[in-house]
Amino acid sequence: MAAGKFQSAGPPPEILVFVDLPEGNLDDYGKGILSEASRLAKTLSAEWSVLCFAGAKDEAMAALAAYGTEKLILLEGPEGLTDSLEVQGRLIALVASEKESSLILLPHNDLGGSLAPLLAAELDAALFTEAIACRVEANSLKLTRQVLGAQVAEAKIWDASVPLVLTVNSRVLSSVVLPGMESDQVQVEDWPLSESVVAGATRIVERIPADPQTVDVSEAEVMVSAGLGCSVQGFTQVEELTQLINASLGVTRPAYDLGYTGFERMVGQTGKTVAPRFYLALGISGSMHHIGGIKDSKRIVSVNIDPKAPIIANSDEAFVADLREVMPLLIERVKSATMGDGDTGGAA
Ligand SMILES: Cc1cc2nc3c(=O)[nH]c(=O)nc-3n(C[C@H](O)[C@H](O)[C@H](O)COP(=O)(O)OP(=O)(O)OC[C@H]3O[C@@H](n4cnc5c(N)ncnc54)[C@H](O)[C@@H]3O)c2cc1C
Repeated sequence: MAAGKFQSAGPPPEILVFVDLPEGNLDDYGKGILSEASRLAKTLSAEWSVLCFAGAKDEAMAALAAYGTEKLILLEGPEGLTDSLEVQGRLIALVASEKESSLILLPHNDLGGSLAPLLAAELDAALFTEAIACRVEANSLKLTRQVLGAQVAEAKIWDASVPLVLTVNSRVLSSVVLPGMESDQVQVEDWPLSESVVAGATRIVERIPADPQTVDVSEAEVMVSAGLGCSVQGFTQVEELTQLINASLGVTRPAYDLGYTGFERMVGQTGKTVAPRFYLALGISGSMHHIGGIKDSKRIVSVNIDPKAPIIANSDEAFVADLREVMPLLIERVKSATMGDGDTGGAA
């Protein structure tokens, strides 16, 4: 995405590309940002180095060369490095500052997008995120990003006088290896761990799984939802079933209007869009306003007294039955299964 020629007023720009190697492998983000770096380096007549945390697999090292890497800095990280963005950011910033890098390049994925502002703050650098185009114009680099879809393009001019942290929108990254891109030899520099950078950093001591009863329904794995076909007593049974199978509770808009739950559990066009692996719709007619919010569920099972209710056609499995009869039996069955194997999650 780069074009034209660039002549820096000062020394030639030094590009430092951060490449994450998840489980030691070079993924498409890494390949894409390497391609971008090699193109940008040509356009800016710049030197470029790749920075990775140590632990790359042999295949990843070979792939780095295929994408034109000539200089590789292998940075030693502490145990649990991936727990802390803060530590990763500080270590990368340390290398960038010692190498006097003027352009720090990252892909705009979860990691790159989170590291970029940390790096900019550490280095006192300019920050430009999610670039979709980098062009040389009037001896400056013009960077463009999309704002509000294709509606507005925002541009920044960079002349290498201050360091710049730049993330490239992953949509424009290409992992294609171009002819002539491959480098003959990768010069590796091992960078030792800097204990002072790591000291006092936040560590994750425990990961606590989300509680289905309180997790945001948009992230729920297993859901039981109640509609107007559940009476007040029926709704109490739905709540009991939800707890027994450790699921998350949802409701339709009329059920919310009746005060069955808070607004945050309403599912559908006005409420939340959900995508659980299992959605049990109890006494829900299946209006388009509700279906719109559940259609990405992996498996929809419904119970409705009316065989013509639209939810039936929108379900993977549907039972035409009266909830007043079904619910007590279902709860009984789940209870005995639960007592049998002690595993509530298996019921769903
Ligand atoms: C702009 C707009 C936005 C909306 N947004 C949403 C939204 O975000 N979410 C949402 O849910 N709705 C929304 N609605 C409302 C929506 O159009 C429907 O009115 C609503 O989804 C219906 O809710 P329901 O299925 O609980 O009730 P009903 O449509 O009344 O269905 C109740 C069902 O229960 C069945 N039933 C009755 N008794 C029993 C029994 N004993 N056993 C088994 N089944 C039984 C009936 O056969 C029926 O199918 C919106 C509407 C508008 C106009």
